[in-house]
Amino acid sequence: MRTLIVHAHPEPRSLNGALKDIAVTTLRDAGHEVQISDLYAMRWKPTVDADDFGETSDRLRVVEDSGHAYDTGTLTADIAAEQEKLLWADTVIFQFPLWWYSMPAILKGWVDRVFTYHFAYGVGEHSDTRYGDRYGEGTLAGKRAMLSVTIGGREPHYTDRGINGPIDDLLFPIQHGIFYYPGMDVLPPFVTYGTDRLSAEDFTDTAKAWEQRLLSIEQTDPIAFRTQNSGDYEMPALRLREGLEPKGRTGFGLHVRA
Ligand code: FAD
Repeated sequence: MRTLIVHAHPEPRSLNGALKDIAVTTLRDAGHEVQISDLYAMRWKPTVDADDFGETSDRLRVVEDSGHAYDTGTLTADIAAEQEKLLWADTVIFQFPLWWYSMPAILKGWVDRVFTYHFAYGVGEHSDTRYGDRYGEGTLAGKRAMLSVTIGGREPHYTDRGINGPIDDLLFPIQHGIFYYPGMDVLPPFVTYGTDRLSAEDFTDTAKAWEQRLLSIEQTDPIAFRTQNSGDYEMPALRLREGLEPKGRTGFGLHVRA
C-alpha cells in the first residue's frame, strides 16, 4: 500500500499528532510506503488566489484559471507536489480534530487549492446524458480514502437523535463531497470521541483500535455510496429514482445503497 496522510494540527505533541505518528509507524512496520503532508509544519498556504495560477485571465476566474494552470503545468510547485502525492497514493488518510463541526481551515484550504478544475472536478464528458466523471468515477478512482477525526463531544451527542447531528451526516460533505466526488472509495471513518476528557487508559485503547483499523484497510469494505452513472439517478436532474430509497430513509442517507 502507498499511503498519503494529510495531517492538520498545529501541535506535534497533540492527540492528533500521536495518531498521525501511530499511523506512520504502524503502516511502515507492516511494509507499506507512507508520505505525510503535515500542513502546519509545511506552513501550507490555505487560501486560493491569483498567485496559484501563473498567468490568469483579465480578472481572476478561479474555476477556469485553475483548470488552465493544471492543463498547462503552471500551477505553483506546492499545489503540483500535492497532486503528485495523490496520484502516487493508493490510500489517503485525513487526520484532524473536529473544529466547529468541520475540518480545520488549513485542511479545507489544502482541498480548495489542490483539488483543481480538470484534476478533481470538470472531468469527463458533460452532456444531457452524462454529467462528467464524478461520484465513484474520476481522476482518483480506484484509490481508498479514510478520515481519522478526533472530537471533543461524547459519542451519544453524535448519534441519530444526538443534539449535534449524526456523525455520518456531519462528515458527508467531506466523505461524499470531497473523497467520493473525484472517484475515491471511502472507508468508514475512525472517530475518537470525548477527546477533551481522554484518560491514559482511553488513549491506550484508542491507539490499539487505530492500529487494527490501519492494518485492516485493505480488507475493509467501503461505504456503499451510489455511483452517479450507473442508473440510480434520473437524468438530467440527477435526483435519486423513486423507489430506490431504503424504507424510511431521507437526507444524506439516500445516497448510500441499502
Ligand atoms: P489534545 O488537546 O492534544 O489532547 C486531548 C487529550 O488527549 C488530552 O487529555 C491529552 O492529555 C490526551 N493526549 C494527547 N496526546 C496524548 C498521548 N500521546 N498520549 C496519551 N494521551 C494523550 N468538539 C466538538 O465536539 N465539536 C466541535 O464542533 C468542536 N469544535 C472545536 C473548535 C475549535 C476551534 C477547537 C479548538 C476545539 C473544538 N472542539 C470541538 C474540540 C476538539 O474536537 C478537540 O479539542 C480535539 O478533538 C482534541 O484533539 P487534539 O489533538 O487537539 O487533542
